[in-house]
Amino acid sequence: MDTLSCIVIGSGPAGYTAAIYTQRSGIDTVICEGIQPGGQLTTTTIVENYPGFPEGIDANILMENMRTQATNFGAQIWNKILIKADLDSAPYKLTFDDNTQVWAKTIVIATGATAKYLGIPDETKYKGMGVSACATCDGFFYRKKIVAVVGGGDTACEEASYLATLASKVYMIVRKPYLRASNIMQERVKNNPKIEILFETNTLGLFGENGVEGIQLVYRKGENDERTYSLPIDGFFLAIGHQPNSEIFKPWVKTDDLGYIITEGKTPKTSVPGVFAAGDVADPLYRQAVIAAASGASAGMEVEKFLAGK
Ligand code: NDP
Repeated sequence: MDTLSCIVIGSGPAGYTAAIYTQRSGIDTVICEGIQPGGQLTTTTIVENYPGFPEGIDANILMENMRTQATNFGAQIWNKILIKADLDSAPYKLTFDDNTQVWAKTIVIATGATAKYLGIPDETKYKGMGVSACATCDGFFYRKKIVAVVGGGDTACEEASYLATLASKVYMIVRKPYLRASNIMQERVKNNPKIEILFETNTLGLFGENGVEGIQLVYRKGENDERTYSLPIDGFFLAIGHQPNSEIFKPWVKTDDLGYIITEGKTPKTSVPGVFAAGDVADPLYRQAVIAAASGASAGMEVEKFLAGK
């Protein structure tokens, strides 16, 4: 069985950047692209807040450029999905969906986090056409428009507050009769005249000819009080939580209650020597491409130090 110097699991900004750094410093690196080559960003359209692109850049082109930059330095791309990791002792054993196995001296976990969706068919139908799980990424497109945010936690409040700086009206769709968010965030949305909170309300569906034009809702209070109605909206934002893609590594590396990988201080070091975590899988707070890329760079530099025995 082969022993790799470095394998990067995941191909978002964190994964590609880590590989750019390791391969550029002469470490043979394999990138395992995983389920979604290019990562979460490829589900959006234009990225306007990645520095260096004053006119914005198509998300797929940005990711393709990062990939090319990594392969230009010599990084190898594997079109496989990791299904099992054994991090008991180094070199670490990894098993892929095509039944192949490798040993690796170092691993960069850059598997990202997946936004949770409600699971209604219209979310898929209108994805990229009015449905988004990232207000910071896509809010700009809803200037002076009407949007809805689903969720009652801190993320939903934060996204609603941010969207209210752009949109003309923001509905928060909250399934319980109260918000789960911290008091300060609750006060912020309750005091914002552009935000209207629809408690005890669930989404039934979305409609529109060329993208989202409206939402069907159901208000339920007890067994006998139920009312379905529609509202015109232009954008539908999910803010019901994220799931870090850390499941395979959980038996080995330390994670927090939500499953985010815990790293040591400001470094990408996990609780396992030679195993580093970069990007959203270790970031419950910011979840931004530029931050993921930066943490990928740190991971690449730590791999180099680790292999040099420093
Ligand atoms: P949370 O799990 O805290 O909240 C999720 C929200 O979505 C809840 O209101 C929940 O409703 C609702 N929800 C979940 N599933 C559904 C569904 N199927 N249909 C309708 N509503 C649904 O997630 P967050 O992402 O908001 O926060 C995650 C963590 O990150 C928290 O600890 C939070 O405090 C933290 N955070 C901190 C921030 C900060 O400090 N600035 C900013 C953002 C997040 P219900 O209450 O009924 O379960």
